[in-house]
Amino acid sequence: MLERFHNFNPGPAALPKSVLNEVAQAVYGTEGGTSILTVSHRSPEYEEIHFSAQKKILHLMELPHEEYDVLFLQGGASQQFAMLPMNFLRLGQTADYINTGYWSKRAIDEAKLYGNVNVAASYKNSGYFHIPEQFSFNPDARYVHLTTNNTIEGTQWNGIPDTKDVPLVVDASSDFLAIQRDFSRFALVYAGAQKNVGSAGVTIVVARKSFLETSVSEDVARIFFYKTHSENKSLYNTPAVFEIFVVSKMLEWIELQGGLLAIEDKNRHKAQIVYGVLDEFPAIYEPAVKEAKDRSVMNVTFRLRQGLEKDFLAGTEKRQMIGLAGHRSVGGIRASLYNGLPLESAQALAEYMQEFARLNS
Ligand code: PMP
Repeated sequence: MLERFHNFNPGPAALPKSVLNEVAQAVYGTEGGTSILTVSHRSPEYEEIHFSAQKKILHLMELPHEEYDVLFLQGGASQQFAMLPMNFLRLGQTADYINTGYWSKRAIDEAKLYGNVNVAASYKNSGYFHIPEQFSFNPDARYVHLTTNNTIEGTQWNGIPDTKDVPLVVDASSDFLAIQRDFSRFALVYAGAQKNVGSAGVTIVVARKSFLETSVSEDVARIFFYKTHSENKSLYNTPAVFEIFVVSKMLEWIELQGGLLAIEDKNRHKAQIVYGVLDEFPAIYEPAVKEAKDRSVMNVTFRLRQGLEKDFLAGTEKRQMIGLAGHRSVGGIRASLYNGLPLESAQALAEYMQEFARLNS
């Protein structure tokens, strides 16, 4: 039996039933074929999965393959926090970082091991979370780094700031291929697959080739050097075969939904339903993000007034809803509404929230 729950987990997260079915079948293998768990990463069968997934990613992002590389790496976005400065930042150089919360801060801490970090803007967390609007960029920075969606705080960038000639690098872990963006604005995008496009174990990096050419080359261990992976088409070492297969099935599913615009529409619809109830019952619910323009489509974060959080969560369990407790660093409630979460789950949550609010008003 597949997924009996409304799965609001923040990642690994809900995947569409059709994708889970295809993956389950691929584990058994087709008649005469190999299981996806035992196929060689050097076989034509696997190469087809690998290269066509790379192509599909660029196609969905509307980026030309002559100018961009898609890398399948491991170590999560956390490894990218380190790999980025390892490849681009040294003592005496500066990188600009925008601090919008927990994960941005983690990225900043890794960069500080390699060079200077200029925090070009910070979020406020005194009472509410928001996306900064004023920046003090350093025109000589090696790159600017920002987090497109702040999974824990529940904020998301709508507009992307203009960094002029300084390359912009984004951690898109929690909104990758979940909304449409002008991806040509970015020199490098990275995301773990486990929220919107697959399961845990593969990290997708999409990089402008000309940006990779500006990397420091002498003292980077080859396995952590982006160009090692781009030159070897992400087959330098054994890639995460199974997880890349899951990504390939999610990409097909996204295409079937109608591409990124259609996916964004669906995701916005789910988010509106939940935010709608938050705003309808201000005596019960307190959204963590007050300004609509800063609210995340992917992670809706809120608190309950009058100490009702425990009761609220107990009720979700009874309704087969899982993964709604907020991150341990901020508490409260968080509903993650990634690509794989069906509309019915968002509706079920909204109905429960209405019922709960009426009962406690
Ligand atoms: N960045 C963001 C925005 C995230 O949401 C997460 C994971 N929740 C990470 C980085 C860390 O990712 P990983 O655990 O895959 O290293």
